[in-house]
Amino acid sequence: MALLQFISAGLPNVRVPTTVHSDHLIVAEKGAKDDIKRAISDHKEVYAFLSSAAEKYGIGYWRPGSGIIHVVIFENYAFPGGLIIGTDSHTPNAGGMGMLGIGVGGSDAVDAMAGMPWELPCPNVTGVKLTGKLGSKWNSSKDIICKLAGILSVSGGKGKIIEFFGPGVQSMGATAMATVCNMSAEIGSTSCIFPYTEAMGRYLSATKRADIARTADRFKDVLLVADEGSENSYDEVIEIDLDTLEPHVNGPFTPDLSHPLSRLKHALSESDWPVELSSSMVGSCTNSSYEDLEKVRHLVAQAKTAGIAKVKIPLLVSPGSEQIRATAEADGILQELREAGATLLSSSCGPCVGQWDRSDVVKGEKNSVVSSYNRNFVGRHDSNPATHSFVTSPELVTAFAFAGRLDFNPITDSLPILNDNVSSSFSAGSTAGPTFRFRPPVSTELPKAFDPGENRYQVPVTDASNLSVHIDSKSDRLQRLTPFEPWARGNASRMEVLLKVKGKCTTDHISPAGPWYNYRGHLENISNNMLIAAQNAFIPERDPKSRGHTLNPLTGKMDLIPAVAKGLRREGVKWCIIGDSNYGEGSSREHAALEPRFLGGVAVIARSFARIHETNLKKQGMLPLTFDDWTDYDKIELGDRIELVGVESGEMRSGRQITMEVRPRDGDVWKAMLNHSFHSKQIEWLRAGSALNHVKNTTLR
Ligand code: SF4
Repeated sequence: MALLQFISAGLPNVRVPTTVHSDHLIVAEKGAKDDIKRAISDHKEVYAFLSSAAEKYGIGYWRPGSGIIHVVIFENYAFPGGLIIGTDSHTPNAGGMGMLGIGVGGSDAVDAMAGMPWELPCPNVTGVKLTGKLGSKWNSSKDIICKLAGILSVSGGKGKIIEFFGPGVQSMGATAMATVCNMSAEIGSTSCIFPYTEAMGRYLSATKRADIARTADRFKDVLLVADEGSENSYDEVIEIDLDTLEPHVNGPFTPDLSHPLSRLKHALSESDWPVELSSSMVGSCTNSSYEDLEKVRHLVAQAKTAGIAKVKIPLLVSPGSEQIRATAEADGILQELREAGATLLSSSCGPCVGQWDRSDVVKGEKNSVVSSYNRNFVGRHDSNPATHSFVTSPELVTAFAFAGRLDFNPITDSLPILNDNVSSSFSAGSTAGPTFRFRPPVSTELPKAFDPGENRYQVPVTDASNLSVHIDSKSDRLQRLTPFEPWARGNASRMEVLLKVKGKCTTDHISPAGPWYNYRGHLENISNNMLIAAQNAFIPERDPKSRGHTLNPLTGKMDLIPAVAKGLRREGVKWCIIGDSNYGEGSSREHAALEPRFLGGVAVIARSFARIHETNLKKQGMLPLTFDDWTDYDKIELGDRIELVGVESGEMRSGRQITMEVRPRDGDVWKAMLNHSFHSKQIEWLRAGSALNHVKNTTLR
């Protein structure tokens, strides 16, 4: 959708370096080779579109199998002192390279691609001081962020940049720092960053960017580290001692349910979480570096030497990129893992984002899995709400894979060595027969040399005048966007109220995911899901149609909300939505703003808005307005028509209120005052019909 929006702006090419990455749609089922083949066949049309659009507009395209976006960016683009925005919440991963990475919605990315300034309210800064050092024990960088998640909770980082400092920083490799920054998304922070260190320089040199390392070295004391004394001006400071930091296991169902390893057994005994594990996973953009895979190999080798040749439960391994896969293959790591029974998945998101064609557990069956991923929300890996997911470091995942149980503590427990010399069978408290205890894994920060592997990168084309973008006009997955009409005088007169939303209305209520995922490139088709999960205050809650339905003001008949909206659009009748508190919370999904605009909506008048959705509505040329008096929400009734006064050209000003005249079908007209947060530039978006239209009409032509 971001590319489709960019295309609709009519610009010849992107104004800032841009790349597109195909990593999310690849289903994990049989293993890397077959899974990539299946993805290329299932999503042929989408990949052809991405490739051709990238070519046409000067964008680099990383084809399926190239790697997971954040890893590819880390290997190729991240540099100290830079700023990158990405349409994925784990973009802060680049902070491991001293680059500020911020996750945004597609509309924000399109603005940047079109050369518009990108803005966000200035965040606070939380300093995290690391003392002591990592290394030679079971703890790792993953435990820093797992512990921090336990301290701050999933929303504790909201509106904040997390900045690391202190001597402990020097004991970490660049990819270890990236692991911390990556998972900072799980505490809701805006971004996360480490100061420039020698480890970053080593990583840059190892990835053929020694010139950047040299430049960074020249400026390291003035530009790429925090100013002297800045720790005194952080909004808050948290201290973590790496010498005493315990390994952590977080979960299930939320990444901030943090258990130091020594207390996990107790937590398990106090809960009804399944102790036996059904599967284990190493990889994702969080923990799939060379150093991570080396640690896994070291543990596998220890077990093999002790006479335990195979893991007890499935161990799925996804290298973060083709470069890591090829390097780990060349260095014999992957072969050792395969011999231990691991399944090698493609270098993509797979089970981390629900793309797991799982046949060992049926939907609804209670089970536990452990991974080195970052998220463990309900159904995140396999759409099974009964899967209890725990996140931890790759080394603990490996130890659990040999034990098959979560109540195994590799620091204090031993594994029995069975006579078949093949599998281990840990049971808490059992010590009979020969046993084996893991030593802490050791690893090297970087390989002797990276092997780039198969080149799946499509370079940006400089002269694309003869190229065209592949979109089949009969496609049900992709559709060109037609630019929205500019604001016309009288747009906000006699608006029908499409529905009055009651209670929580997230972007998932406005534009649900699930099967709709397939239509994210087809605005007309995906608009058929508009508000189908929203509660309509005009319909009693006991009525099964109170969600997703509304009365058609033209026919008086009840129908699905998108069907009614379409009918109104067909008849040229303008409409608005009445929203409750924090309307549009959740993800930054731009479809939630595109759909009402596409179906003829003019305004959303709510008690309050979630920040990103409010901006997204403005970007699509809609009016997000808030009741000055919250009780006016209660007075809106079925059949009311609404007129907005003060929204026409010349009348609307930043900070000036808008008057809402409400015309009930029966009864007297009444008025209410509405607020808006448009600044003068954003008012120009409204007039042009959208932010992109404004870009097209002005300087960038
Ligand atoms: Fe997102 Fe997981 Fe993919 Fe990382 S690996 S980009 S967290 S889906």
